[in-house]
Amino acid sequence: MDSAISIRDLKIGYGHHTVIDRLSLNIEPGEFLVLLGPSGCGKSTLLNSLAGFNDVSAGEIWISGRNVTWEEPKNRGIGMVFQSYALYPHMTVRKNLSFGLRVSGLPKDEVDRRIEKTAALLHLENLLDRRPAQLSGGQRQRVAIGRALTREVDVFLFDEPLSNLDAKLRNELRVEIKRLHQQLGNTMIYVTHDQVEAMTLADRIAIMKDGVIQQLASPSKIYHRPANLFVAGFIGAPSMNRIEGEITFTASGPVFSGSGLSLGLSGYDFTAPPQSGPATLGFRPEHLVLDGIAVGLPVIAGEVSVVEPMGADSVVWFDVNGESFSLRLMGETAVKPGDPIQPGFDITKASLFGADGSRL
Ligand code: ADP
Repeated sequence: MDSAISIRDLKIGYGHHTVIDRLSLNIEPGEFLVLLGPSGCGKSTLLNSLAGFNDVSAGEIWISGRNVTWEEPKNRGIGMVFQSYALYPHMTVRKNLSFGLRVSGLPKDEVDRRIEKTAALLHLENLLDRRPAQLSGGQRQRVAIGRALTREVDVFLFDEPLSNLDAKLRNELRVEIKRLHQQLGNTMIYVTHDQVEAMTLADRIAIMKDGVIQQLASPSKIYHRPANLFVAGFIGAPSMNRIEGEITFTASGPVFSGSGLSLGLSGYDFTAPPQSGPATLGFRPEHLVLDGIAVGLPVIAGEVSVVEPMGADSVVWFDVNGESFSLRLMGETAVKPGDPIQPGFDITKASLFGADGSRL
């Protein structure tokens, strides 16, 4: 089957400033792909080029089997949802939903059918006669999503649609977008700098830095097997702990040493045969157990500095030789600042990176 969207060797810039250089990416029909990365990495530039709002300097964009690189936005078979909602303030919700359809000459019966269907999907039935000023932020964004849906196209593009909402509404609408995708099965591309949105919504995440995709994989793979130190640091809160050190070989196999820790690596799943040299060991806060000795794991002994209770879990910060590490425990803990602790490691859940930052 054809990809829903195929981006081929794309190059995009503003004047002499190249933002994206030779980027290729295929998105499958029905896939929810999230473009994730820090501000300025080129996510919106890429999304806008798919929508037809940015010219490209080289390469091609194919949508639903057609080369649309130089097509007008309205002829690309896409619906787009913006961060700013972009609703017409003087029109009612019904008119906002129907405006594009009426302009394109769709018969009134068909316009009414689509509005009814969309209003039901997004729980807008009781709001159809209101103007945007009479709606909450969440309701406005629902209308903006609805306007894209009424186009009944295969591909929807979302540009940071939840950024203007407060935390509670953001969580609610996020679940609703996921439900919508499950119901409709359309291809969706969603730009965000929010790792929680990316992890919860995506079938695959393309994580970007400086216009380059660093890793393209499922949320689980990105979380558990980050391709490099940038990805490891961008995903996860608190961030993955790191220890700088080196890999050496002993009679019993490769060993990582650093910060007073010496850790046999025989249980580690290397991407290529290991070599000796500088390396960084990364481990997630929830991959440490509080009492490593009790369960027979190698330990990293330290002293508790801060405890952050969060209800469902707690984050314990501890110091080892002047470096700070975090450990996540389920529920609450009696551990308090000043306590000595000996957390244990499970090397099978850790990540190792070489001198260039790539996963080993
Ligand atoms: P993101 O969406 O990841 O925050 P953008 O795609 O908006 O990033 O921006 C990528 C880069 O392109 C940034 O360096 C930004 O300053 C630059 N840029 C974006 N839009 C324009 C523009 N209209 N003119 C010139 N430079 C731009």
